[in-house]
Amino acid sequence: MNDINFECTECGKCCHDLRLALTIAEAVAWLARGGKMEVICEAIPWPVEPEPGNAQAGYKRARSSPAMSGSLPVRISIVLAAAFNGACPNLRADMRCGIYEQRPLVCRIYPAEINPFVELVPENKACPSEAWQNKPLQRQGIFVDATTVEQIEQSRRANQLEAPLRMQVCLELGLTTAALANEGFVMYSPDSEALLSALRRIHATAQSQEAAQWTFVSNRAETVETLLSVGATGHLAEPTAAGNFRYHGFFAPS
Ligand code: SF4
Ligand code: SF4
Repeated sequence: MNDINFECTECGKCCHDLRLALTIAEAVAWLARGGKMEVICEAIPWPVEPEPGNAQAGYKRARSSPAMSGSLPVRISIVLAAAFNGACPNLRADMRCGIYEQRPLVCRIYPAEINPFVELVPENKACPSEAWQNKPLQRQGIFVDATTVEQIEQSRRANQLEAPLRMQVCLELGLTTAALANEGFVMYSPDSEALLSALRRIHATAQSQEAAQWTFVSNRAETVETLLSVGATGHLAEPTAAGNFRYHGFFAPS
């Protein structure tokens, strides 16, 4: 793995057109400030538990919640995402963050990767070429800065610990349709007040739930047929967004 240097130029490019994955406390703060959020859901068919040594499956398992789709066991991965097109509502005219001391963890960690199975590739980041110099960021694949390492750990821990709470929020709001993982996402844009109130409620009353019923949605007929053939429930996505629901497929409809 290449050694990587980095020093932020404060260009503000990474603060535009984003879906920022937030912890529950961050989501409450974001909504309380008037920000918009989306709830992004994908479902992973999980008919059997993976081998204990399968680290990648273990990582996915820890960040998702068990559910059923028809008779098919699935795991639901849910992201609470601050959503904005154009500049972040907190970005000041001088390209500084207006909530710098309270900015989300994910903003503090950028451009480092949180997922240990995703390699940091400078070309995939918004940062200009002149940012990739000066200070050591990564040596032999390991982040050098202790604060960044701690923040990544904090983010992974929160993601894991809060998985059942994110499921509870979805059930409270009646959001039980998900895309097939690696084929697309379902993006819900719930009413901000309703989401805020659900987040506050579940924060106070965290509890484990029965495995809920979820439904797959896909823009590909063969995916729906395959899912139905293994006992899942599913249907084709409407070609246009409806209400607070949007399907974003990675592949052309078929
Ligand atoms: S919260 Fe601050 S750092 Fe994060 S995207 Fe918005 S302006 Fe940028
Ligand atoms: S895009 Fe990179 S260099 Fe520019 S403000 Fe964001 S982190 Fe800093």
